[in-house]
Amino acid sequence: METIDIAIVGAGPAGLTAALYASRARARTVVFEQGIPGGQIITTDWVENYPGFPKGLSGQELGDLMLAQAEEFGAEVRPFTSIDKIEPSDLDFIITTSEDEQFLARAVIIATGAIPKKLGVPGESEFTGRGVSWCATCDGALFKDKVVAVIGGGDAAAEEALFLTKFAAQVHLIHRRDELRATKCIQERCFENDKITMQWSRVVKEVKGEGGKVVGIELGATNGDEDEFLPLDGVFIFVGVDPVNTIAMDLTSFNESGYIVTDHDGRTDYPGIYAAGDVTDNELKQVITAAAKGASSAFEALKYVDNKVCSI
Ligand code: NAP
Repeated sequence: METIDIAIVGAGPAGLTAALYASRARARTVVFEQGIPGGQIITTDWVENYPGFPKGLSGQELGDLMLAQAEEFGAEVRPFTSIDKIEPSDLDFIITTSEDEQFLARAVIIATGAIPKKLGVPGESEFTGRGVSWCATCDGALFKDKVVAVIGGGDAAAEEALFLTKFAAQVHLIHRRDELRATKCIQERCFENDKITMQWSRVVKEVKGEGGKVVGIELGATNGDEDEFLPLDGVFIFVGVDPVNTIAMDLTSFNESGYIVTDHDGRTDYPGIYAAGDVTDNELKQVITAAAKGASSAFEALKYVDNKVCSI
């Protein structure tokens, strides 16, 4: 079985930064990524709050740069490699991929990130890929001159609503309250944009379709107004994220929302297992905080591996 010093599960900003730090310290570092490297940022059109890029850059470009930097120092990144199990073995861990390949890792960093939440309303699943989408960067261009809705009031919803105005004729930004949660400067851009219509105090009750594609949504009101039907061509859902936590289920502690609990430096309560990024219980979920926690967790994992080697 191949031995790895530090195995990292997930190649988003947290995992790739951990890989950069671990490989620069000359640890044999392998990053397992079930899809393509980059994490959630590669579905983000533009990142303008990552330091060092005053004009911003595309999420894809930032993800590619992080990958290139980790690989530059020798980290091995294995895309399309899903991890099925992490099992303690003496003081190490046996990592089993879904292809039944096994590795012995001295320490593990879990950086599996988060995935978009669903609304859980009728029609949402049925019309996914047929008008319902969770990725404006991927699907926005399909809605040129059409009318779309964005659901949510956070950074993701507001930023993606702005992005969709590049294509759509009109974007309804539908939020369940009467004020957005998004960062103020993004809110201001939404309010100033003629193509964005704010739909305050509204919730989606059902996504309606005909002939296999979306034709609109049934809108309920949280302020006592009447329900109404809103005709649309597309619905983009950005109502938060859920942590991808199953890989560590039996080993580490979670909070009530399913996020892995770590200390300030990324230690979980299982010695040798660290966690970083959006799968953890950090309040601020940004590229910079994921990268910073990736660095701290790698630093701690390196100390753990070195101590083990010294005590053998
Ligand atoms: P979020 O900040 O958790 O916001 C989710 C939004 O969806 C909230 O406005 C929430 O309403 C609404 N919502 C939740 N469940 C709903 C439901 N069932 N029906 C209708 N509305 C619902 O999530 P996010 O925008 O996906 O962002 C996730 C994290 O990534 C955040 O920490 C965010 O700051 C970060 N992020 C940062 C950037 C950036 O810095 N450029 C970009 C994207 C994301 P309430 O407001 O009423 O709770």
